[in-house]
Amino acid sequence: MILVQDQLKDQSEVRIDIEDRGYQFGDGVYEVVRIYNGQYFGMEEHLIRLERSAREIQMTLPYSIELLKERLEKLAKANDIRDGHVYLQITRGVAERTHQFPLQQAPFLVAYARKSPRPLSKMKDGITAITTEDIRWLRCDIKSLNLLGNVLGKQKAMDTKCDESIFIRNDIVTEGSSTNVYIVKNGEIWTHPANNFILNGITRQVVLDIAKETGITVHEETFTKNELMDADEVIISSTTMEVTPVISIDGTQVSNGEPGKVARTLQEKFNERIAQLQRVKN
Ligand SMILES: *Cc1c(COP(=O)(O)O)cnc(C)c1O
Repeated sequence: MILVQDQLKDQSEVRIDIEDRGYQFGDGVYEVVRIYNGQYFGMEEHLIRLERSAREIQMTLPYSIELLKERLEKLAKANDIRDGHVYLQITRGVAERTHQFPLQQAPFLVAYARKSPRPLSKMKDGITAITTEDIRWLRCDIKSLNLLGNVLGKQKAMDTKCDESIFIRNDIVTEGSSTNVYIVKNGEIWTHPANNFILNGITRQVVLDIAKETGITVHEETFTKNELMDADEVIISSTTMEVTPVISIDGTQVSNGEPGKVARTLQEKFNERIAQLQRVKN
């Protein structure tokens, strides 16, 4: 079953109009929310961000956050998801193809839930990355369906048999193609400030909260490609990648090529947050 507008439907019953603006322009916004042991992680935060993304492109959500939450719970249950995620997108809807907004906007929502395992071996062993120029637009803070810059970045990583691309804009490290990026130097964390050059990840916010709680100093300040290459640890985070160490960049090892201490601490505390979620809900 998938969610279409506010109804659960069989996927075979659903038709997407060729004049949907999501299809023609990538005119819409989306979210990915993790499900651990049958329960959503950070749903409220994701839906608040979805609402913000929509507002920033002058769209309004067709349903309240409360209604969305309730429907998404049903969606996860209907598909019997224990470990997985939900993908949710809202487009500006169907209209004759003109660039400007249609006079009557009818936002169109689709969501589906999938089983997906946690990336445990990558979290344990670390991943490899390349650096590549950040060719994206100047509103990376919006989780928009327009992902060509991200798609090309990720493909470039795959072409060089790496896991992720780390974007560089004017010598500054912004983020990964679908992840936020952190460096550790002398036990302190640096990550790009949450402005229009990055997507402020929900996982990023959890990581920063954990760091604060653990007494690790965080600098939400820009850092350069040289500082990235010279870091003691490099870490990425996202809903699907959780907190994962980067052990090599552009073929050069990060430190000794082993996941570092700060990464391990963050991972441990992140696991506690997941376990906590179960306790609160049950
Ligand atoms: C979604 C996304 C992230 C990570 O955000 P989470 O909320 O942690 O999943 C980071 N960067 C980009 C470009 C993204 O699209």
